[in-house]
Amino acid sequence: MKHTDIKTVLSDADMVGLDAVVCGWVRTFRDSAQVAFLELSDGTSFEKLQVVIDKTSLTPDPECTKLGASVVVAGKVVKAYKGEGNELNAERLSLLGKCPPEYPIQKKRQTLEYLRGIPHLRLRTNTFQAAFRVRSVAAQAVHRYFHAHGYYYINAPLITASDCEGAGEMFRVTTQPWNAKYASEEEYYKNDFFGVKAGLSVSGQLEGEVAATALGKIYTFGPSFRAENSNTTRHLAEFWHIEPEIAFAELPDVIEIAEDLLKYLIRAVLTECPAEIKFFDSFVEKGLLEKLNHVANSSFAVCTYTEAVAILEQQNARFQFPVHWGSDLQSEHEKYLTEEVFKRPVFVTDYPKEIKSFYMKQNADGKTVAATDLLVPGIGEIIGGSEREADYEKLTAAMKERGMDMAAYKQYLDLRLFGSVPHGGFGLGFERFVMYCTGMENIRDVTLFPRSVKNIM
Ligand code: ATP
Ligand code: MN
Repeated sequence: MKHTDIKTVLSDADMVGLDAVVCGWVRTFRDSAQVAFLELSDGTSFEKLQVVIDKTSLTPDPECTKLGASVVVAGKVVKAYKGEGNELNAERLSLLGKCPPEYPIQKKRQTLEYLRGIPHLRLRTNTFQAAFRVRSVAAQAVHRYFHAHGYYYINAPLITASDCEGAGEMFRVTTQPWNAKYASEEEYYKNDFFGVKAGLSVSGQLEGEVAATALGKIYTFGPSFRAENSNTTRHLAEFWHIEPEIAFAELPDVIEIAEDLLKYLIRAVLTECPAEIKFFDSFVEKGLLEKLNHVANSSFAVCTYTEAVAILEQQNARFQFPVHWGSDLQSEHEKYLTEEVFKRPVFVTDYPKEIKSFYMKQNADGKTVAATDLLVPGIGEIIGGSEREADYEKLTAAMKERGMDMAAYKQYLDLRLFGSVPHGGFGLGFERFVMYCTGMENIRDVTLFPRSVKNIM
């Protein structure tokens, strides 16, 4: 259907005086004796188009005025009577699809919880349209950033046989019938599609290392799957994961890149989504705009795990789980550090090796690894990364300590046998980034169809 995007009709000064056809859904209808006003949204912009109907020349079909109805309007573009931009003086108005009063989306503000129950319709609301516009702009900016900095975009497999770190968190991939009966577990997997136990990848990192140790700088941007058995506002079973991996990079380089990427993404969102950020600032997180501007223009804090624990230990009385050196940082600790102590994003570095993954570079102290988590106010961990252990002997020693099956990691170990180089990278949870940029507090509200325990609507 030939028509013009509302975004263009609204904002293009050259369109004033021209005829235009627009399509959209009715957001509001106001009526008076002489004129009526329809507000239309077609999704192309946060602002809606005001359609002015001169009732002396055009009598609108009542179905065209119902909330949620879809219509097509032909008319003349004029400068808005009030405010900025343009509006449309309707000459013809016709119905595309009517919308009965049972429409679950209503004009009054509806709770996010209610809207979660209608994931197929909630994108018709301002909040969700804004969130998904930010999400799209951020995704484009991710690719732009890496492309501009000489990274190659790699697609790691989603089905994998390596049960890597997340053994307990891995979804299985199988074509076995539900009542398959086998004598042993081994026989069971042998009969399955791949002939071995297979699952959905929790991270593209291992394959990312393969690519980085040939192409130099790579990133993946795709889904990761984790059978997280906890119902938090920050975890999904299926989330989008941005994972750069960089050859010849040590931990400080990894930190520098992570900070640079985040600031770039925030600036892109601020530049390309001003109306959305203004909306979130007014209705979702007061002070969001100032927060984002500040974060984009000031440096992040860095502190070691050991320093962080020393700070936290003095506050142990306030925590549900008291902290001591060696304990994993819980969400309450992460939030305290970034919200109360540093009051900005903070990289925590050099964690005890026992609480981190086998592949992280072992520090000279023999106790810690060159890992870093980036913690941000309101969310906690948004990035997890590290320098990788590049030394064959040290890596195999760490794997033996953990009782890992060496044969399963032959390819990974080969990278340390043939021209091993220092390298590192990180994983940024894309939904967590969108939460941070929009102030949305539940990861389910920045995901089209969120998947979590007992929820696959
Ligand atoms: P958390 O401690 O929050 O569970 P993690 O330590 O398991 O995170 P990593 O394995 O380091 O996380 O993954 C890298 C990033 O991926 C995290 O910093 C986070 O932004 C994101 N992430 C991890 N698990 C999930 C999930 N289940 N849902 C959404 N994002 C996730
Ligand atoms: Mn996790």
